[in-house]
Amino acid sequence: IDVTQMSVDHLCVRYTAAYRRLMSRLSVVFGGSRGIGRAVAQLLAQRGHRVVVISRNQEAAQATAKTLSGEEHLGLSCDISKEHEVQGAFDTITKTCGPVGYLVNAAGVNRDALLMRCKSEDMVSVLHTNLLGSMLTCRAALRSMLSKGGAIVNIGSVVGVKGNAGQSVYSASKAGLEGFTRSLAKEVASRNIRVNLVAPGLIRTDMTAGMKEEEYRKKIPLGRFGDPLEVAHAVVFLLESPYITGHVLLVDGGLQLTM
Ligand code: NDP
Repeated sequence: IDVTQMSVDHLCVRYTAAYRRLMSRLSVVFGGSRGIGRAVAQLLAQRGHRVVVISRNQEAAQATAKTLSGEEHLGLSCDISKEHEVQGAFDTITKTCGPVGYLVNAAGVNRDALLMRCKSEDMVSVLHTNLLGSMLTCRAALRSMLSKGGAIVNIGSVVGVKGNAGQSVYSASKAGLEGFTRSLAKEVASRNIRVNLVAPGLIRTDMTAGMKEEEYRKKIPLGRFGDPLEVAHAVVFLLESPYITGHVLLVDGGLQLTM
């Protein structure tokens, strides 16, 4: 093929298709059993990826993996905040499924309270799950991505960008994840590994089940909570965009404009 005779658009289409084929080896989704992570797993499976669904609850992870379309998927149990469990999960994955192409860190917890009322064990749990956990999975995945490249998306939050009273610890964990994402993106770009972050607003999942949507509608310019699939589309967009790294993408119905 004489590339000098091809238009830029044509080259981009060819390159993107080749890039998808290269990266569509294996996708690992932490927090994939429910909510946003499950929607990401569903979308990746629909796009022909083999997906490893991970959560602490093995039955839930396996049940979700079974519902995914296409190839044979895997459900594994792993507590993202525990180094030996993360290492064990990646050992199992690389032995049974091969090298990891995409990693999505959607495992997360909140223990919202005013700082004066926060228990130390809750602070540790939030930081270890939301921040340390993603660091551990990224480190383990990089080993598997070094030779052929790959892409990572961490799930942050609009409150990590804007801050919110009653969520100081959660917001710190997500702001930390943002700094981590940008720094890691710089660290591994030369290996063709991209690292991005999606920062959702209020999304209808178990995490927001106790919140009354009507009470928040006025604060959200688009007037509603988001659907997990709407976040999943942004995650998959970043995974599949060969020239985007170190980016923070808000998916919040405009909530950041009013915070
Ligand atoms: P859900 O509570 O619906 O799902 C959380 C998922 O994470 C589950 O699969 C859960 O499975 C898993 N998980 C929790 N703790 C651990 C752990 N220690 N190790 C492994 N897996 C774990 O949450 P969402 O889908 O709403 O949230 C997904 C991400 O999006 C989180 O990081 C959250 O902070 C973030 N987010 C969510 C927003 C929302 O409005 N919903 C807004 C902004 C950000 P199990 O319990 O079995 O381990």
